[in-house]
Amino acid sequence: MTVFYGGAFLVLGLLLGSFYACIGYRIPNNISIIKPGSRCDNCLKPLKWYMNIPVISYICLKGKCSYCKAHIDISSLIVELFTGITFMCSYLYYGLTADIIVPLILISACSVTAVSDFKYYYVSDRVVFGSTLLILITYISFSSFNDYKLKIVGMVVLFVIMLLVKIVGDKVFKRESLGGGDVKLMLPIGLALGTFNGLLSLFVASVLALIAYFLLDEKYNENLIPFGPFLLLSCIIIYILSSMGYVF
Ligand SMILES: [Zn+2]
Repeated sequence: MTVFYGGAFLVLGLLLGSFYACIGYRIPNNISIIKPGSRCDNCLKPLKWYMNIPVISYICLKGKCSYCKAHIDISSLIVELFTGITFMCSYLYYGLTADIIVPLILISACSVTAVSDFKYYYVSDRVVFGSTLLILITYISFSSFNDYKLKIVGMVVLFVIMLLVKIVGDKVFKRESLGGGDVKLMLPIGLALGTFNGLLSLFVASVLALIAYFLLDEKYNENLIPFGPFLLLSCIIIYILSSMGYVF
């Protein structure tokens, strides 16, 4: 049964990953999430179902649109694989319990934000507030207020800290130091992790972003590096390490 459910979570993650990559592209470009259906971003021709199978279609079409031969952005493949594999791993670790819900919400938010922020420097309010609300509903449904009241405190503390960092940073550097979306992302992250682990994940995110900054130096030469995906990825890492008992 484990193999069956593991496979089911992998497929679910691949399909959702394909959808997340799509909305990560559509939201910043003001295109409706529902209509039109899947299409080539270059020639705008609608895709047939067999051109839209996660991972497999990309490999079979050798990463090109079958109509106009334009390159299909590899980001969708990466997001599909990331979502599929992390969904499967979440199932293998947490099983079919309520504990799996919050990691799946965080993975989903990370997948959408990876596309929207890396490509368009855009963190969607819908992703921020939607994931915060879903985590809150999960807490209310499956645990007692005593279990999650400190998480709510963490959400407020992290949000205020990031807001202060942004206000001071903007003054010191005389330009936007942190995006408003990065500050707002403290809501779902603080709510998922609480104060201490939230701060720890901020530190990990900064280290990851710094490493990426040096690796991607040429591409992001305006000293701007999207921070949102690193914040959410670190949040997932710390959340899982915390579940395993490696961090507080
Ligand atoms: Zn095309």
